[in-house]
Amino acid sequence: MSAYRGRLAPSPTGLLHLGHARTFWTAHERTKAEEGALVLRNEDLDRARCKPEFVTAMIEDLAWFGFQWREGPDCGGPFGPYTQSERFAWYEQAFETLRGGGFLYPCACSRQDVLRALNAPHAGEDEPVYPGTCRQRALPNGAWQAAKVNWRFRVRDGETVRFTDGCYGPQAYAAGKDFGDFVVWRHDNVPAYQLAVVVDDAAMRITEVVRGADLLRSTARQLLLYRALGLEPPRFYHCPLLTDPAGRRLAKRHDSLSLRTLRNKGKLPADLRRAWKTGHFPRPTA
Ligand code: GLU
Repeated sequence: MSAYRGRLAPSPTGLLHLGHARTFWTAHERTKAEEGALVLRNEDLDRARCKPEFVTAMIEDLAWFGFQWREGPDCGGPFGPYTQSERFAWYEQAFETLRGGGFLYPCACSRQDVLRALNAPHAGEDEPVYPGTCRQRALPNGAWQAAKVNWRFRVRDGETVRFTDGCYGPQAYAAGKDFGDFVVWRHDNVPAYQLAVVVDDAAMRITEVVRGADLLRSTARQLLLYRALGLEPPRFYHCPLLTDPAGRRLAKRHDSLSLRTLRNKGKLPADLRRAWKTGHFPRPTA
């Protein structure tokens, strides 16, 4: 076995669909080509949207499709637990490191990005750049504990974050323009997606993150967190998104393309994979 470690990181907020399967299959195949280990992580931080029945369905559907993971919530492994809601101690420690290092500030603004902070900002969901309203807001020592505040990571305006993506090549994103100060910890005591994913990918020794191209800008934010936490970042490989005939990213509205529905219709994973090569996808009916 090589040192390569890849991961599948679904959120159980609905049924997995063909778009997830295609991105995950890339992660699967890249891991296999490197004779590495594939990790399955259940990203269930958003308690309002994640449901236990979707966790069961996600494991069943991934297994049906032919995914083989070596570590995960169902089979354990050396870097568990593999369910985010059971990993608060890791997130709290990272939060304290960031706060102690002066990287964060409390923010009292209630904006859409605060509501959405627990989920990866997929296509069309990215937040507008935070105008920095609370940047200069100083709370008396200890007062933040009583206050219901969100914690934002302060970016260095004008800094360009660069990385080379395994699929898209050289990338450059400007802090303060392409993204702003982002939420890492929410007032209701939940870590944001951006922090949790970095902490877990590092703790689980992931060497390459494979995910959809709509998260390229999140990668820039995450690289700032790796640096602030003194962690070695993995490599990144972002995949082109599967879209419907109208050019929209596949999402839960495309129920007819959920793996569950396709399976019930008698489709075979090998045939679905063949369609990725030809571009003849089943047409969503919803
Ligand atoms: N749980 C996140 C999602 O479903 C993972 C994003 C990522 O791969 O970093 O979108």
